[in-house]
Amino acid sequence: MQANELSRERLRDLAALQPPEGKVLSIFVNLDPQQFATAPARGTEVRSLLDRAGRLVRDDESLSRDERIALKEDLARIERELGSLDAKGAHGLAIFAATRAGLFEVLKLAEPVTHDPVVAERPYVEPLTSLDGGDRWCVLLANRRSARLLCGSRSHLAEVALVEDDVHGQHDQGGWSQSRYQRGIEKEVQDHLRRVAGVAFATLRRRMPVGLLIGAPHELAGPLEEALHPYLRERLAGRLDVDVENTSVDEVQRLAAERIAAIQRDREDAALERLAEGFAGGRAVGGLEGVLRAVTEQRVQTLLVEAGFTAPGGKCPRCGLLAAESGGPCPADGTTLQACADVVAVAIGRVLTQSAEVLWLQDRPEPGPHRHIAAVLRF
Ligand SMILES: [Zn+2]
Repeated sequence: MQANELSRERLRDLAALQPPEGKVLSIFVNLDPQQFATAPARGTEVRSLLDRAGRLVRDDESLSRDERIALKEDLARIERELGSLDAKGAHGLAIFAATRAGLFEVLKLAEPVTHDPVVAERPYVEPLTSLDGGDRWCVLLANRRSARLLCGSRSHLAEVALVEDDVHGQHDQGGWSQSRYQRGIEKEVQDHLRRVAGVAFATLRRRMPVGLLIGAPHELAGPLEEALHPYLRERLAGRLDVDVENTSVDEVQRLAAERIAAIQRDREDAALERLAEGFAGGRAVGGLEGVLRAVTEQRVQTLLVEAGFTAPGGKCPRCGLLAAESGGPCPADGTTLQACADVVAVAIGRVLTQSAEVLWLQDRPEPGPHRHIAAVLRF
């Protein structure tokens, strides 16, 4: 079975998806190698997860007969496909199934997720929204004759492409005059860089990274960046100083992680600046209550959340209004607000479907005065 990697775009598409009829079953499999190092331990975990999902489908009294039958089919398919899944390298899986509506998606996660199965109107993506931001990063390393492309998240990169071109060594003259020989070499190097850029675009076009880092000898970095497709060039995020052929994936990963952390810090600084300007101009809001109101009104442009912040709250089953309290009447239509265990996660999922930006702030005192959460508003 095919498993896809988690990306911000995929998350947004899933969050926005609502089958016209039937329910979606969402299942999260924890494959943490520390807890489930052996196949039997993983097998037991999967068995107990499927049992819990089975009970949920059987006992949920709000389900119609057809919905229950469809969900049982989904469960049987999940069980079948988990048996043949290659989850190598994944620390967790998220599975979203509504087979009758054409949805069956397995996402590989770089970090484990612990969450009970959920049956709902749409894919329950909330537990995934805090994972590494879901951002895809790439590193392109190239010298005069070879290139490596690594992709993944900030905490896990894997080599996805390798290009080796037969460019003559500079000292292997083979009978040419020095200047003609040199021109020939430069042409070959240019061709090589063009080919590298072509392979990079072909590999990444279907799922563009949020940032691309380049590692190349000084004289090649500029020409390589020039050769990139414009879509990739606009995602350039800096250069890494590495030996292209003799650096391990782990070492590239370590250098890239440092750089990505610095870039994200800059993004956070910029967002905090916009937040301060927003407060000055009446286009920002702080604290859970105000933020939930803005999310309900679809006014959020950038949401800033302290990493790890969760809070219980309420949701109107009729109009979708989010509130910091549950049990009372919806201010819009009077329907009783249902309790949600973590209204922050629901708000984040909602904001992602509205194409707004979400930033998780780690070890930053700035959101403190806003009680853990704040938003820059569109209007
Ligand atoms: Zn309502």
